[in-house]
Amino acid sequence: MIAASAKTYHGRIAPSPTGLLHLGHARTFWIAWQRARQAGGQIILRNEDLDPQRSKVEFVQAFMEDLRWLGLGWDEGPDIGGPHAPYNQSERTHLYRDALQRLIASGHAYPCYCSRKEVQLSSRAPHAEDEEAIYAGTCRPALGMSNAKAEGRKPCWRFRVPDGEAVRFVDGHFGPKEYVAGRDFGDFVIWRPDDVPAYQLAVVVDDALMGVTEVVRGVDLLVSTARQILLFRALSWEPPAFFHCPLLTDEHGVRLAKRNDALSLRTLREQGREPRELISAWQREKLMG
Ligand code: GLU
Repeated sequence: MIAASAKTYHGRIAPSPTGLLHLGHARTFWIAWQRARQAGGQIILRNEDLDPQRSKVEFVQAFMEDLRWLGLGWDEGPDIGGPHAPYNQSERTHLYRDALQRLIASGHAYPCYCSRKEVQLSSRAPHAEDEEAIYAGTCRPALGMSNAKAEGRKPCWRFRVPDGEAVRFVDGHFGPKEYVAGRDFGDFVIWRPDDVPAYQLAVVVDDALMGVTEVVRGVDLLVSTARQILLFRALSWEPPAFFHCPLLTDEHGVRLAKRNDALSLRTLREQGREPRELISAWQREKLMG
């Protein structure tokens, strides 16, 4: 029997329209969809199109078509609307800006004038190989001192992590996890100097405001989960549950990425592969416990 207080399961599928979906995304999204179904819950499709340089409308059409080909549907999304609209992140900037203002007001965010590659990387999720370096804290405000300002340069905004604090969570697949702020990750970018909200902030705002109860995504985002838990807390929101999926690799043990065109769902479909073949392989992995 389900306790009266139990929340309805709300999952989400959150592709970025920066290329075609590959087999690894498809498997993660299938797991997210399957977990929502098994829980008798709902699933949201969210278009993570924040990066103005890399996002393309044709990839939004492509991922919807590919997901449908796979047999996945969604209860809310950019094509069908729903109670948490809009579902394109590019139309939700006002919500991210409100959160940024709250973090500034509570002393959790500060402007950073350092010019670094990680600032450019920050609108997309830091997958393991382009994980941000630990920021040295150069622009952290010191007592009685104003921030260093570079003439004419626009700042990014960073979240100030509580140094030494352990962030613990129980992952639905990998079990108990612990990361230490300031050791495993440093002050991270939440807003880019070109006025684009960064992935870490946008995803937390959306997961909170869309009522997501479980986040299913690749294991390469485990450290980001620790960052995001700190953001949820700083914004007085309860973090969802997390379920990280092991990543698929190619025959050389290399993580699949969008550049592996041969493994895009599009190509597999054009080669005449059937969704049920892919799905039965995933079912055999028994990833869902
Ligand atoms: N759009 C993000 C990505 O493709 C989603 C990450 C997440 O699920 O939080 O990496």
